[in-house]
Amino acid sequence: MAASPSTETVIVRRQAKSAPRKLAADICVVGAGIAGITAALQAAKLGRKVILVDSQPSLGGQAVNSIIATFCGLFSNGTHGYQFTYGVADDLLSYLEAHEQAVHYRNGPRTTVVYYDEVTLGRWVETSILGAGVTPILGATIMDARVENDRIASVDFMTRYGAVTVEAEGFIDASGDAALLWQAGFPCREPANHRVFGTQMVVLEHIDEARQPPREEISARMKEKGDQYGLLRREGLGFTIPGRGIAAMNMTHVETPLDPVEASAKALEGKEQASRAVEFLKKEFPECYGNARVRSFGLPGIRQTRWIVGRHHLTVDEIKAQTKFDDAIGRTAWPIELHDHGDGHHWIVFDEDHAHYIPLGSLVSRDCHNVVAAGRCIDADSAALSSVRVMGPCMAMGMAAAHALDLAGSGSVHQIDMDQMRQRVADNVEKQHYRWSETQLAQAVTA
Ligand SMILES: Cc1cc2nc3c(=O)[nH]c(=O)nc-3n(C[C@H](O)[C@H](O)[C@H](O)COP(=O)(O)OP(=O)(O)OC[C@H]3O[C@@H](n4cnc5c(N)ncnc54)[C@H](O)[C@@H]3O)c2cc1C
Repeated sequence: MAASPSTETVIVRRQAKSAPRKLAADICVVGAGIAGITAALQAAKLGRKVILVDSQPSLGGQAVNSIIATFCGLFSNGTHGYQFTYGVADDLLSYLEAHEQAVHYRNGPRTTVVYYDEVTLGRWVETSILGAGVTPILGATIMDARVENDRIASVDFMTRYGAVTVEAEGFIDASGDAALLWQAGFPCREPANHRVFGTQMVVLEHIDEARQPPREEISARMKEKGDQYGLLRREGLGFTIPGRGIAAMNMTHVETPLDPVEASAKALEGKEQASRAVEFLKKEFPECYGNARVRSFGLPGIRQTRWIVGRHHLTVDEIKAQTKFDDAIGRTAWPIELHDHGDGHHWIVFDEDHAHYIPLGSLVSRDCHNVVAAGRCIDADSAALSSVRVMGPCMAMGMAAAHALDLAGSGSVHQIDMDQMRQRVADNVEKQHYRWSETQLAQAVTA
């Protein structure tokens, strides 16, 4: 016979001055998106004690929770592009390849993109972080940062379960919004005289893949009839992994202000826009989307808001000129993709043999000795950032941030041994490996 259910309770009361939970690490990574995850895994591989903090109650940042759906900038241009970023990126691709229908390479005439299943990616993130011995602190938002001698000594976070203080030798700002350096009072940049729009992603199920209209046809119809449906953006992108009957639709432009009240209002407006776009698809292309229904909305997709003032301000001219910096830590060939007007975006594609480089100088805060940024908040002009913030180079930045702090130890990230740094990131700057087997190439959709 089953035991009786427990009925006893105890009465508890919050202590008036309960101290925050105190934790210490070698490296504290703030932000668990693709840049922060890569940084945390790389730092753990280097034997460092790592704490990984995120304000969401889950790992994976936008890559998992906003349902971005494809990795861009991870391969060079052309139908047979080589891989740009290795190490942690290899671990990730191998995991996805080992899971049925979790990854699909689309080798286009110019760009190569890697479609992924966000649920499988989420499981890779979780199992890898736990397997590496990293301590995650989830649902924790920065409240304050203590700065001593141009170093961040500790950061206070608030969670739904109480306050946490983390002391560390070095910090990685992978928050996307330079939230750590901003809170610590270091200078940051915001776009002047223009906005960079985000997007509300939506996953549709029950679509008829075989009858999908070309992207250009959807965009032409959006331009023609967008007003009728109340659409702001006039271009439609859909990503499908063949054989699954679902598509991740990227069809909205939503403002992403840094004010808490406005940000919340715009996030809800994004869902309205996405719902209108679904209505448009169902009515205008019923043969493909007539039976579609929304399976999930991603969290608000945020492209560029606020970023650091680094030692180097990466410019669009340097990108076009393929400037190879002495302190290069990664590269990409992704187009300039600047979403600075509501109805569309700038799209400037590069040649097949093009590669542009990201310098360590753009990752290190000019005025701080123990913080390295990684991901979409490094120092660049708006157009340059729009190319290097995609996920392939974000992974290279995460790896480089971990190496730079490992080499700096208790010293300054501005005075590390650059020969050693170059050796550590050499693969991500020089190597040209062609990942695909002949079979994979034959199966890849060319579009
Ligand atoms: C709609 C959309 C579509 C895109 N499409 C593609 C694409 O197809 N392919 C591609 O490669 N790239 C794409 N990009 C770009 C790419 O997704 C992002 O630039 C990239 O994911 C950024 O990664 P990240 O790690 O820098 O930041 P994020 O993924 O934004 O991670 C930052 C993390 O920091 C946390 N955080 C922020 N502030 C705080 C705080 N104060 N305290 C604690 N934690 C905090 C956040 O919760 C978040 O999890 C797209 C972007 C958008 C918005």
